[in-house]
Amino acid sequence: MTISRSEKNRRYRKSLRDRKRIVVKVGSSSLLHPETGRMDYHKIDVLARELCDLKNRGKEVILVTSGATAVGREALRGSQGSGEEENSITRKQACAAVGQARLMMIYQKFFEDYNQVAGQVLMTRDTITDNLSKYNLHNTFTELLHLGVIPIVNENDSVATHEFSIGDNDNLSAMVAYLMEADLLILLSDVEGLFTDDPRRNPNAGFIEYVEKLDSAMMDMGKDSAGSGFGTGGMSTKLQAARIAVAGGCDMVICNASNMRVIHDVVEGVNVGTIFCADRDEDFDLADYLEETF
Ligand code: GLU
Repeated sequence: MTISRSEKNRRYRKSLRDRKRIVVKVGSSSLLHPETGRMDYHKIDVLARELCDLKNRGKEVILVTSGATAVGREALRGSQGSGEEENSITRKQACAAVGQARLMMIYQKFFEDYNQVAGQVLMTRDTITDNLSKYNLHNTFTELLHLGVIPIVNENDSVATHEFSIGDNDNLSAMVAYLMEADLLILLSDVEGLFTDDPRRNPNAGFIEYVEKLDSAMMDMGKDSAGSGFGTGGMSTKLQAARIAVAGGCDMVICNASNMRVIHDVVEGVNVGTIFCADRDEDFDLADYLEETF
């Protein structure tokens, strides 16, 4: 008897309840009010509560968060001037330095409310490509998880110029999942998941809920457009992230973060977003992939 695709999806989803090490990635657009660009405390609060609840269920949790630059820009509004200067790399890096500290302050507050300790890990491209840095990173994450801490990760935007940068947190989160051998990566996004075409331009675009095998036709479905003005992640970076995650033996779900409780649904095996099934590839080499792709 052949099993239908939707039945396969249903069965696979149920197995997500058993995942132990979970990486959650949240983008700037999911943390800020679109009307003002200011922090959405309600959403950040629910996010923290969901993650702390996962910890209480005995899961290991790593959060990869964007928002440093956007939060810093907002904090420095009024003292920034305009024109070219505002878009310069150094200005962006200064904003990130201010914003990253603010972001952590807010996370610390909410995590503390739910009785969990959070720690900050900032990375650049070198942290992945340099073997010693990678080794140190792995040790730090391992120790943090051992101590019951929730690591909060971002790119070190205040020092990472283009050549040193990973560039987007979709890929960064997949690299963290890969290095730490996580078994589930949840990409919280402002889109529902993967469509056969850009649904904002093509009303006939079909939704894909279950990707058993990530082939090249599927990779081509990524469109180079971000849903909002705040983040850098369009669908193409999400598919690149999926490539890394599944090759590392990690399932990945893209889902809409308009309600952060979706994290609970994903881990309960509810059919939300798009799931990419783990498909370990022993020939995959992260450093080579980085070299070829970026
Ligand atoms: N690391 C950047 C920030 O925190 C965001 C990158 C991204 O949105 O993918 O501003």
